[in-house]
Amino acid sequence: MNEFRTLADLLCAPTRGRRVFVRADLNVPLDEGRIRDDLRIRATLPTLERLLADGARVVVASHLGRPNGRCVPALSLAPIADRLEAQLGHPVQFEPSLDPDRLAARVAALADGELLLLENLRFEPGETANDPAFVDRLARLADVYVLDAFASAHRAHASTLGLQERFDARAVGELVEWELRHLEPLLEPDAPFVCLVGGAKVANKAPLLEALAQRADTLAIGGAMAFPFLSAKGQSVGASLFEPEATGLACRVLAAAARSGCRLLLPRDHRVCSSDGTILVSKEIAAGAAALDIGPETAAAFTRALEAAKTVFWNGPMGVFEQKGFGEGTRTVAEAVAKSGAYTVVGGGETVAALREFGLEEGPRHVSTGGGAALEYVAGHELPALAALRI
Ligand code: ADP
Ligand code: MG
Repeated sequence: MNEFRTLADLLCAPTRGRRVFVRADLNVPLDEGRIRDDLRIRATLPTLERLLADGARVVVASHLGRPNGRCVPALSLAPIADRLEAQLGHPVQFEPSLDPDRLAARVAALADGELLLLENLRFEPGETANDPAFVDRLARLADVYVLDAFASAHRAHASTLGLQERFDARAVGELVEWELRHLEPLLEPDAPFVCLVGGAKVANKAPLLEALAQRADTLAIGGAMAFPFLSAKGQSVGASLFEPEATGLACRVLAAAARSGCRLLLPRDHRVCSSDGTILVSKEIAAGAAALDIGPETAAAFTRALEAAKTVFWNGPMGVFEQKGFGEGTRTVAEAVAKSGAYTVVGGGETVAALREFGLEEGPRHVSTGGGAALEYVAGHELPALAALRI
């Protein structure tokens, strides 16, 4: 970790009285406004506790979901402020407006050792666009910058990247350090290295599988991630969640796996919801039917691969585990991952929520707050928000 500027380096000079902007990732999975899993909130505490104890005036910012530059009340950070306050055991002030004058006034009113949480940064289009004007607005709020949003470190957004350049005093936070310490062994994994990938963010994640196929001994693919692969192999995916554009990417991954000798495991059976609403296990996906989970034969094959592994990385549920009748595949692989004696990293908002719902979040493994970010890291990519914080 001596490659990055750290919080310890920053705290060599006391932060008492200084305004510290902490880009956290409080993008927790929500279920009709209810926080499904607060790992990302809890994981942010060490950095905040250290800064508050040092007497800093802490300004915390995050995004939540994808409001696409508009104010979406359901994606307000107000409920996160309440949970953060409860977890921190310290008052959390919340400013519901991103208006520059309001924010300036709120930050100016902060006393030493006080904390202000800003509203969802993605309510402003300038955040994801890394717009210099929005960067200016944020830069005025602080003297010191801390990146603790590991789960957003693969994003070159205003608060994760643009803002860094405006501060001489900048560092990664405790969470980022902790994540890197645990993810680093995956760059030189003990073989067999088994990567298990599922979930729904196919367009974001599929491009990374090509690099992953070159590193892993086995790549097991479930969830909606499997459909472009099945389609590339000429199988019908019925009415499953599927973007035909991803089929080309899947072909590239299949070729990369063949070149590097990576064993690719795809679903052989599915739990499908047919057009009349009945749930059945089937090897084929009929027209009008949606495959919402991997079938038992597939789960058994993935389990065998996990049993033989020395290193495991898992991101993305195997099915729509949130829905009754479609959690079995995810539960079976989660149990195999929990039992495995391999060096294991599990990451991703929904993946970790699933572990928790199955009562499997404790265990001899690293539970990462990052899904896409962890996947990019394991694929060997430099995370843009971290690159700028190297010494
Ligand atoms: P993570 O948050 O762990 O990184 P993603 O965000 O990529 O994972 O995807 C999680 C979502 O994928 C879950 O909400 C789950 O319902 C969905 N999903 C998994 N399998 C399927 C499937 N076969 N069809 C549709 N959605 C799926
Ligand atoms: Mg997710």
